[in-house]
Amino acid sequence: MVNEKIVNRVKCLIIGSGPAGYTAAIYAGRANLAPVLIEGPQLGGQLTTTTEVENFPGYPDGVEPFQMMDDMRRQAERFGTQFVSGVVTKVDFSVSPRKIIVEDEIEYEADAVIIATGASAKYLGIESERTYKGRGVSACATCDGFFYRKKTVAVVGGGDTACEEANYLAGLCEKVYMIVRKPYLRASEIMQQRVLNNPKIEVLFEHNTIRLTGEGKVQGVDLFYRKGEPDEATKHIAIDGFFLAIGHHPNTELFKDFVARDPEGYIITHDDSTQCYTPSLEGRTGERLSGVFAAGDCADPHYRQAIVAAGSGAKAAIEADKYIKSL
Ligand code: NDP
Repeated sequence: MVNEKIVNRVKCLIIGSGPAGYTAAIYAGRANLAPVLIEGPQLGGQLTTTTEVENFPGYPDGVEPFQMMDDMRRQAERFGTQFVSGVVTKVDFSVSPRKIIVEDEIEYEADAVIIATGASAKYLGIESERTYKGRGVSACATCDGFFYRKKTVAVVGGGDTACEEANYLAGLCEKVYMIVRKPYLRASEIMQQRVLNNPKIEVLFEHNTIRLTGEGKVQGVDLFYRKGEPDEATKHIAIDGFFLAIGHHPNTELFKDFVARDPEGYIITHDDSTQCYTPSLEGRTGERLSGVFAAGDCADPHYRQAIVAAGSGAKAAIEADKYIKSL
């Protein structure tokens, strides 16, 4: 028997259910584009891995991330967004209208596509990290640092992000350890100096995390010093928070054959627009990929903030609307 695909024709299809995707849906809905939003593997996006959102305007008392994302979702629904729970498994942007396949089964043809698939923080992959996620383990100092005022925290990583996060946390916390696997920091000179000159930060070079410990929440971490070397040793430090800063990876693998990305995989857009381009040739972006737009963290290696993602989602929907009207 032939497994026939169901084909749906839509004006505007949005991939991703974080602040960028939902905001794009609100704008596209109000522009009468009857958007379809594919929710993806993590409903509500990266933000839902944090404990409380205090820096999104409009919530003076802070808000639980699930509540905020549900508010955005309901707002998008109010203007006619159709939500599809599932993961996009394939796209074909070489054809017009653009083709998007969900769960290998449902096929969409869309005049405009907004990619808002976000980025995922890298984790070490140890079991205790999962056990304490949201209970002392975080991958965003700007989001969660405030909860560790006057406490002791550790930041893992030796790059610019780790240094930036350690400095930020040092402004709030009693003490900040940096757990760095190499005998040096990879970060830029200026960031290294800031860290090394900050009396609240202690850098533990050549240390690796073994496991996190604690009763119901993070209370400490076991470390290896120079594992495999003659002077190998283990060490335990008491901490209240454990921050990962070992990099992010944008969720853009699916689009690599069609969309220009930078060496880290972030989608390339230019000139304050969300317009996508065909893949680069010798480091240069190709042609405009008409009707395909990128918003939020999948195209933003710098800010990684919900409010910034939401703003770019609005831009993408405005640009998609303009494009659709031009057809
Ligand atoms: P990077 O890839 O630069 O650094 C990642 C750090 O995490 C490295 O020290 C790396 O160690 C460490 N690491 C990776 N995996 C593990 C692991 N499994 N266990 C322990 N440590 C690990 O990522 P960043 O997010 O810091 O930076 C990404 C890009 O963004 C960079 O180009 C950076 O310069 C830029 N950036 C610039 C900023 C600025 O200019 N203000 C701010 C933030 C980022 P190792 O060194 O051993 O590989």
